[in-house]
Amino acid sequence: MGHEIKKYKMLIGGEFVNAASGKTREICDPGNGKVVAIVPESSKADIDAAVSQARAAFDHGPWRQTSALDRGKLLFKIADGIRARAAKLAELEVLSCGKPLAEAEYDIADAANCFEFYAGMATKIHGETMQVPANSLSFVVREPIGVCGQIVPWNFPMLMTSWKLAPALAAGNTCVLKPSELTPLTALDLAEIIVEAGIPAGVVNIVTGPGPGCGDVLSAHPQVDKIAFTGGTNTGRQVMAAATGNLKKVSLELGGKNPNIVFADADFEAAVDGALFGAFANQGEVCSAGSRLLVDRKIHKKFVEAMLKKIPNIKLGHGLEEGVKMGPLVSRQHLEKVEGYVAAGISEGAKLVCGGKRPSDAALAKGNFLEPTIFDDVTPAMKIAREEIFGPVLSVIPFDTEEEAIQIANDTEYGLAAGVWSTNINRALRVVRELRCGITWINTYHPTFNEMPWGGYKQSGSGRELGLYGIEAYLEVKQVNINLDEAPIAWY
Ligand code: NAD
Repeated sequence: MGHEIKKYKMLIGGEFVNAASGKTREICDPGNGKVVAIVPESSKADIDAAVSQARAAFDHGPWRQTSALDRGKLLFKIADGIRARAAKLAELEVLSCGKPLAEAEYDIADAANCFEFYAGMATKIHGETMQVPANSLSFVVREPIGVCGQIVPWNFPMLMTSWKLAPALAAGNTCVLKPSELTPLTALDLAEIIVEAGIPAGVVNIVTGPGPGCGDVLSAHPQVDKIAFTGGTNTGRQVMAAATGNLKKVSLELGGKNPNIVFADADFEAAVDGALFGAFANQGEVCSAGSRLLVDRKIHKKFVEAMLKKIPNIKLGHGLEEGVKMGPLVSRQHLEKVEGYVAAGISEGAKLVCGGKRPSDAALAKGNFLEPTIFDDVTPAMKIAREEIFGPVLSVIPFDTEEEAIQIANDTEYGLAAGVWSTNINRALRVVRELRCGITWINTYHPTFNEMPWGGYKQSGSGRELGLYGIEAYLEVKQVNINLDEAPIAWY
């Protein structure tokens, strides 16, 4: 674990620059508290500068005149650049957000795939011709929206950055992207890759700084045409409110309290595996985490016992250590927030069957570690069944009937994802049809495909990322009507 402390600059108008104020922020390794890098700490002046560069690049720059084919080629180059630096990017991801290396490697590979997916799509943005009355030839063209503000969270820094930039650029927009203040490193490395690939100056600007004073300025900025936000539901509400000033387009990918439903007829071993992976991958810091495990009462006790038997396989440690399956939480503050939920679960009478505390291993004391935690006999009214914990805490809720499982699953303000485990495909599809959420899995949990739309119902967001839907979110639609009549309409 080499700890070279790199001092980063951010990308504004094709230049790598410090914050106008000269302020910086230390980025710390959540596994041991050590400083791993120093980044600019932006404020309004930097957001203004980045927006004005993005504005000029959109209004007057070469980007809109760059052919779709050439835009696509540049995105392919970015994908190549990510692959060429994959090992370093994966390490940076571990050092700033804590996830195990194998998970970070997967994220980086997927980020490259995402750029490739949208590189190919740049040339497939089509218009349509409509059947209107015969005296008009009418068609629809799709055009970029303009300057896109993009705000990214800390749990999948590189992947969320790619989900935002790749479709926006493929569609011909210019961007000001703000990574999370806790995990900006891979976005800043990506900035270097973007410049090396030959993206024109001002088309992509990456500005590092906090939510208040930086993210909120971007959301409210009158020169920004669209804001795309991924983060907490309450922050999403603020972003949406800030966007009303100039009625910018808004897309939101927010939180979840996702049900993972196991029926008695499920493949038992696969479901146990899937329940644990759904809850504990990425330390449970996943918007789509299966954090509410609904288990058929007929197998409930046996199921919890089987999960407990596997808990020792989840080796806790620094993400760069061999064999580690769960890293630290992103920050001490977040660890304490998650511990607050553990305390709430205990005081509300849920049965703590494992974890709930920091590991006793002294070597981990300086990191933000929490043991994988399972609460059994949780009732749907408890706080740990209702609020997004965003940590390695699984709430097990038994149910008796299919109807009850559906009712509990939908009894939430969120609507992001859900899993269903059953060998009866009729039942699985019947349940999926009733679930009020945007992402569902049958007999699996978590696989995410660049080809498939990602997003939530209810307060889990609005709009979709990825797939064909993801590029629509970065396009305006213009109708063009050509009069085929020779004579004036002679209305007056
Ligand atoms: P967060 O809302 O605290 O922060 C997200 C981003 O918003 C950060 O870059 C932050 O600096 C910025 N921000 C904070 N306050 C802001 C404000 N007032 N105006 C504008 N920007 C502001 O979220 P987080 O803690 O970084 O991430 C965790 C949350 O993200 C969880 O709720 C999780 O469910 C959600 N998430 C959702 C998805 C999804 O696809 N639906 C994916 C990943 C994470």
